[in-house]
Amino acid sequence: MTAADQGIACVQMILRQAVMLMQESAKIYCLCRQPYDELRPMLSCDHCNDWFHYDCTGLQPPGDNEDDDEVAPAEYRCPKCCIQVGNATRIFNTTPATACMLR
Ligand SMILES: [Zn+2]
Ligand SMILES: [Zn+2]
Repeated sequence: MTAADQGIACVQMILRQAVMLMQESAKIYCLCRQPYDELRPMLSCDHCNDWFHYDCTGLQPPGDNEDDDEVAPAEYRCPKCCIQVGNATRIFNTTPATACMLR
C-alpha cells in the first residue's frame, strides 16, 4: 500500500464516521417522521420497536400526575405493524381503539 492509498483510506474512514454521526442525530420516529421531541410523550411498538407519539397514534398521553406505565397499553402494536399483519382496522387494545384504526 502506498502513502497515497493510506491517505485515501483514512479520508474514507473519516467520511464514514461523519455519515454515521449525521444519521444518528437525524433519527426520526413515528408516523409523522419527526426527530425526538422531549415535549411530546411517546410509546414504543412491541413489534417493530419504533417509537410513536401518543397524539399521532390517537392514544391518550399520560397526564401530569400519571405514570407512563399506567397509561401505555401493556402491549402496543403501531398502525404500521397492524397493516403488515393485515388487521389495520381491528381493535388491538382495549384502551383507545384508534391505536389500530389508521388505514
Ligand atoms: Zn408523531
Ligand atoms: Zn410497529
